[in-house]
Formats: sequence, structure tokens, C-alpha cells
Amino acid sequence: MPVHAGICGATGAVGQRLIQLLEPHPEFEIAAVTASESSAGKRYRDAAKWRINAPIPERVGELTVRKTEPDEIPDDVDIIFSSLPSTVGKTVEPELCKQGYIVSSNSSNARTDPDVPLTVPEVNAQHLELLEIQREKRDWEGALVKNPNCSTITMVPPLAALEDAVGLERITVSTLQAVSGAGYSGVTSMEIIDNAIPHIGGEERKMETESRKLLGSYDGTGVEWLDARVEASCNRIPTIDGHLENVWVDTVEDVTVEAVKKAMRTYPPLDLYSSPEQLVHVFTDPDRPQPRLDRDRENGMAVAVGGIQETAGGLQFNCLAHNTMRGAAGASVLNGELLLEQGYL
Ligand code: NAP
Repeated sequence: MPVHAGICGATGAVGQRLIQLLEPHPEFEIAAVTASESSAGKRYRDAAKWRINAPIPERVGELTVRKTEPDEIPDDVDIIFSSLPSTVGKTVEPELCKQGYIVSSNSSNARTDPDVPLTVPEVNAQHLELLEIQREKRDWEGALVKNPNCSTITMVPPLAALEDAVGLERITVSTLQAVSGAGYSGVTSMEIIDNAIPHIGGEERKMETESRKLLGSYDGTGVEWLDARVEASCNRIPTIDGHLENVWVDTVEDVTVEAVKKAMRTYPPLDLYSSPEQLVHVFTDPDRPQPRLDRDRENGMAVAVGGIQETAGGLQFNCLAHNTMRGAAGASVLNGELLLEQGYL
């Protein structure tokens, strides 16, 4: 029997990807969709301005969109995938957890709370053990699990491979982020066509903090964040999907380019339904990865790396991931699969 799933924020950029991933999923069945007051009460196909280049799944198109309120969620729903604006998630998600729902969330609220697991299953599945502490502290029957920001998740798998192999001391990153990362009404065409915007509100601090929490270690009582300096600069460019990032790294031990490639290529994948067979794809062509050519690798769930080279003081590489798949919807579905595998559902 598949696990019944609700999707909060189901009409947005990430919500549509959640529907695309969950409707054919063998382990989950979409049982409820919610959005804002302006969509509530409408059929999903009438409420959502569907922008994915595949048809709206027939059954979901006929579902009635519900208000995003805990009482609106049917009792037989076991997990809620949340892609709400963080201002809404901040109040609604804790209420859902209090009522007993397991929430796998994309929103940025609570990501760095000490008792909230921020997980990329291949990198730090052990952090899920924080849920025992969370439930005791908050007196919740449900639970809250977060996936990181889409720009953070792009660089974390290659960095995790380096941390395991030689240790990380300092990370500097500059991003070229796609417009879908801002949501459907985030950036207007007049702002972004023939342009680049060297500012994405709050994104830099998210990359700096979330990466250190993700790469930190769980010691049975909490997560000790990675002791490395992380600095980020974030830019919006006129691509539709796929965040490209230039990363500079100082490692604790010296390492050759060949050893870096090997560490990234052999970084262990997981055997969850949505896991890519190889998490990090390493290019030798100097002009890859590129958003249009490489964002869809392994159904958008792989991270692509290229341009690995030594610099005067350390290492440099470029990385790319699909921001609404690996960086958002795919990430929270993968967290749902991990919760299922570990017996939380
Ligand atoms: P979006 O396209 O703007 O969609 C927002 C969704 O939330 C829509 O379903 C919208 O419903 C609903 N919503 C808005 N206000 C609401 C309210 N007051 N009450 C209930 N529902 C409300 O945004 P998005 O890009 O999908 O992002 C969703 C979340 O994921 C955000 O927290 C974002 O930061 C995070 N995230 C996004 C990405 C990405 O690449 N886009 C990556 C990682 C994380 P209506 O259609 O009815 O307005």
C-alpha cells in the first residue's frame, strides 16, 4: 500500500515538480493538494498555471485544491511535502507536526534550528536521528525534516567527497542561478532578459550556514557544524532551470586533480527509489557542465562537476544541479523515501 501524501504549495514551481515526481511514484500516493486562499476550492488544473513540459497528471488535475490549514488535511495522509513560502511554512509546518504529520519541507524556515534535520540523504542520512530529540523537545507526534536551499545542494555533494578524502578548510562560491529558483512570480521578464542580477536576497547567508550544517557531524546529541570558512556570492542569470556554480576550495591535505576526480566519481550513491546511480558526474571537457546540456542527468537528480584544476592556493571546480529537481522537489521526495526506509512512516 503506498503512503498517502499531501502537497502544500502544490501549484507553485516546486509544487508542480512534486506532482510530476509523486504521481508515478510506487511508494507514495497524492491524496491532497493545498495552496493559497486564491486557489482553494478550484480544481487543480484550473488553479495551477502548469508550466512543466509534460501534461498535468489526469487524476491530480481533477483534485480540489484545499486551504493550507491543518484541519483541511485528510486524516489518512501520513506525509506532507511542503513547498510553501517560508513566511507561511514558518507557522503552518509546526502546526502540522503538532497534529502528527511528518513534514518534508523545501521552505527555508527552521533549516538551521538545532533540532531540525537538514538532510541530503547521500551525504548526511545520520542527521535524521535528530528527530528523536525534536519530538521530545517539541512534544510532537509528527516530525519536521528539511532539504537545503537549491544553491547549497548543488555544491554540497562534491564538497562532501572532498571533506571525506582530504578535509575542507575554506570554500568560496559564486553562483549563476536560474530564474525558476525565484518561483513563478519571482523575477519578471523585464528584469532578467538581457541581464544578470548580482543579488538574491538572503541566499548568500543560506549557502554559508546550510553547507556547514550539512557537512557537520551528528554526535548523538546534536550536529557539530563543519569547521570551515564558507563565503558565497549569488547571481541570477536568464536560464530557466539549473544552477551553475564556480567553487574555490582550500583543503586540509594536499590533493591532486586526479584524486579529486576519483573521490567525486566514487562518492557512494544510495539505493532509494529517486537516487541517481552516480551522485556526482565528473566532466573532463573544460566547458562543461552547462545548464541546458547537463541539468537533466539522471532525471535531474545528479550533480555535474567540471573544470577541476589546481589554483595558486588550492582547488577550483564548477558544479551544476537542476534547482527544482535535485535542488527542491527531488530533494524532499528523497528525504521522504529515507524517512520511509528508516521506519518513520
Ligand atoms: P512559488 O512558485 O511562488 O509557489 C508558492 C506556492 O505556495 C504556491 O502553491 C502558492 O499558491 C502557495 N502559497 C503562496 N502563498 C500562500 C499562502 N499565504 N498560504 C498558502 N499557500 C500559499 O514558489 P516555489 O519556487 O515553488 O518555492 C516554494 C518554496 O520552496 C519556497 O519556500 C522556496 O524558497 C523553496 N525553494 C524553491 C526552490 C526553487 O528552485 N524554486 C528551490 C528550493 C527551495 P497559489 O498558487 O495559490 O498562490
